[in-house]
Amino acid sequence: MNKKMYELGSKRSVIRDLFEYGRALAAKIGEDKVYDFSLGNPSIPAPDCVNDGIRSLIENDATAIHGYTSAVGDAEVRRKISNYVEKEFGFSLPSSLIYMTSGAAAALSIVFKALVEEGRSEFITFAPYFPEYKVFAEAAGGSLKVVPAADENFGINIEGLEKAITEKTIGVVINSPNNPSGNVYAKEEIVSLSKLLKKKSEEYGRAIYLIADEPYREVVYDDIEVPYVMNYYDNSVICYSWSKSMSLAGERIGYIAVSPNAEEAETLFFAVCGAGRALGYVCASSLFQRVCANGIGQTSDIEIYKSNRDLLYGKLTQLGLKCLYPKGAFYLFVKCPVESKVFCEKAKELGLLFVPSESFGVDGWVRIAYCVSPDMLKRSLPVFEELVKAVR
Ligand code: PLP
Repeated sequence: MNKKMYELGSKRSVIRDLFEYGRALAAKIGEDKVYDFSLGNPSIPAPDCVNDGIRSLIENDATAIHGYTSAVGDAEVRRKISNYVEKEFGFSLPSSLIYMTSGAAAALSIVFKALVEEGRSEFITFAPYFPEYKVFAEAAGGSLKVVPAADENFGINIEGLEKAITEKTIGVVINSPNNPSGNVYAKEEIVSLSKLLKKKSEEYGRAIYLIADEPYREVVYDDIEVPYVMNYYDNSVICYSWSKSMSLAGERIGYIAVSPNAEEAETLFFAVCGAGRALGYVCASSLFQRVCANGIGQTSDIEIYKSNRDLLYGKLTQLGLKCLYPKGAFYLFVKCPVESKVFCEKAKELGLLFVPSESFGVDGWVRIAYCVSPDMLKRSLPVFEELVKAVR
């Protein structure tokens, strides 16, 4: 038995533990008294194009929809994504460099596997970060180095990154809109990051890749722009997913896009195909490749998340808590007024479930996932008030 895999499978994650605790508590005291903000599982319905698209495919195209597509994905689907990227971001992404995947998790695992080589095995990311990066990087034979945040705005720490890059660095992983901070990197930050990566690539004589993990690309508020990294940096790879934007987290659908301007882009794409094959992915869901490509650009009703954000941010700041104003994703990052363990335990006693930031590589904050029903969120507000009184 593989000891490392045993450890991964048997060690329970804090988030899963909270979820199980919430289920048990609901059975004991009633569903309406549990306010579960632990999981980033979209609660709002998928856009109409999803169910309409499924119906239409079943009625009109029933022979092909449940079969294998080619390993890289359906040709027409990839063409539609390429056209969309050109129209939306003004970037010419050939469909031949798009590889359909089972969500962003698979996309990241494949990209990490495709890039790790003898003597070059290190990925770098910024705190706070999605903890599965470490799992995926290590499973691919690599490692993850975490650059601490420069300040409490959780922007890109350029100086920290410059110190962290070595000859072993393969790539830098960014996630914007960010889980767990809700931050969105500004264009200027992406420009500075690109300059540094270019300089360091030249210094080491090897491309350092920028891997953009983008499951929240469309989940943004107040018309905030999410820069399209391929417009700024040549050696970039995007890991995209419809899990959050179309509320399709359980359907497992997304893609990898390799920039045509990357060094040896075609060779890299073949390595992506090889890694997908070696990991046994075969092909992404045939049905959902087509459903998502047919509805490309549509999203669930993001206004519901926005209204949740406004209510929660308004209430918690009014209670005197320091919160990072979320520009995107559906998480509120809140600074704990007391030790985070004490804060989370007291919250649990009151039926409020959210995740301590230590899970994301930052101390002293909590992540509140507000992708919940507006009714539950409204009912939770007096309980937050009770919590703040109890810990003060
Ligand atoms: N990356 C980040 C930052 C996430 O928050 C998540 C899911 O929560 C993923 C990747 C994985 O997404 P998917 O469901 O598309 O595999």
